[in-house]
Amino acid sequence: MHSATLAINETLQIRRAAGEKVLHLGFGEAGLPVPAPVAAALSAAAGRNGYGAVVGSSEAREAAAGWFARRGVETRAEQVLFGPGSKALLFALLAALPGDVVLPCPAWVSYAAQAALAGKKTIGVPIPAQAGGVPDPALLEQALRDARAAGAHPGVLVLTVPDNPTGTIARDEHLREVCEIADRNGLAVVSDEIYAEVCHSGKAPSALGHLPERTIVTSGLSKSMALGGWRIGFARVPSGPWGDRLMQDLVGVASEVWSSLAAPMQAAATHILQDPPEVLAHVNAARRLHATVATAVHSAFTAAGAVCRRPEAGFYLYPDFEPVRPLLAARGIDTGAALAAALLEEHGVGVLAGEAFGDTADGLRARVATSLLYGDSETERWEALRSDDPLALPWIAASLDHLRTALGALTAQG
Ligand code: PMP
Ligand code: GLU
Repeated sequence: MHSATLAINETLQIRRAAGEKVLHLGFGEAGLPVPAPVAAALSAAAGRNGYGAVVGSSEAREAAAGWFARRGVETRAEQVLFGPGSKALLFALLAALPGDVVLPCPAWVSYAAQAALAGKKTIGVPIPAQAGGVPDPALLEQALRDARAAGAHPGVLVLTVPDNPTGTIARDEHLREVCEIADRNGLAVVSDEIYAEVCHSGKAPSALGHLPERTIVTSGLSKSMALGGWRIGFARVPSGPWGDRLMQDLVGVASEVWSSLAAPMQAAATHILQDPPEVLAHVNAARRLHATVATAVHSAFTAAGAVCRRPEAGFYLYPDFEPVRPLLAARGIDTGAALAAALLEEHGVGVLAGEAFGDTADGLRARVATSLLYGDSETERWEALRSDDPLALPWIAASLDHLRTALGALTAQG
């Protein structure tokens, strides 16, 4: 089945190309332009046409090790594996690690689909009220017991910190508790940290702080640097014999599926992961823009009566229209899918129903991505990034007006 995120992106792009006025809140593409020195690093490497080592070049691996070390995580180059996007690395991990897959519920669309492709069951555990990306520690141990009783063999726990779809950052206390439970139950932890560079303020905690010997971190440049189409991802496996064996297994998958990350992309990654000043400034500006726009969109949803966790990182929101269920029911809307369909067909607003993220079908919840509001052209996106008041830019202001009008009409009395 076509991944829900990529499918809605294609659908909405076709509608927009046909001249329909559709607000694209369906896809988590970071929506920012490429800084000139980064583009130059890529084009300077165009002549690198060899396949290269499966794990990545020694320059790229050294750069990634330095990048982790500057963020407080000592890392040797040998612990790093590059791949064409962290999505491919996540699949390799789910294929290589033994056992069924435990997921927060809701969680990003591809984990459950990848687990199914790898022939594994998934065990979904609701997230705590405070923030997503982590199963509620109070429910996890019982969920593992229930899963075993039902014949599953939980082996891997996936965490998303910061989170997609909720745009929040798991509390360190919750991470500590779930890592303790993972440890007691012999689970490996896959910590998807692709949004860690785009916290709206401060720094996200990591499972590495609690279970370093069994935590694999995945990350990449799709979100912080908005390079989704360049497909640059990397994983860090733990040091020691367990991590070394896992690295061999990952190389087994990678060598049979994608061979290596494209060599010019490794050169671009090497440049970016050395944290040159223009990259740090770009990511800082992006963080501000994500926070400003996500916060404005959050206000639009709460003003319409939805409850929604405040955005803390990245460019997502996960509003819940439960408080206005009677109003929506009167319009025939009683599921997340009906909510998403009404928003699109009647109000020209594209979002993804919570069900795509493993949530229950009757929940009136949807995932809202705010990063395609920054502009349609490179010029608009640069302006948004550089502006002190992006909400006042005409194209962003018009999109927010469209959204407020749509939500007002959706939830109007009578
Ligand atoms: N994890 C999460 C939570 C994501 O939202 C995405 C978005 N694409 C990915 C992983 C994969 O990103 P990529 O393959 O571009 O590195
Ligand atoms: N992660 C992004 C999203 O959740 C889009 C890319 C993808 O899913 O691969 O919308």
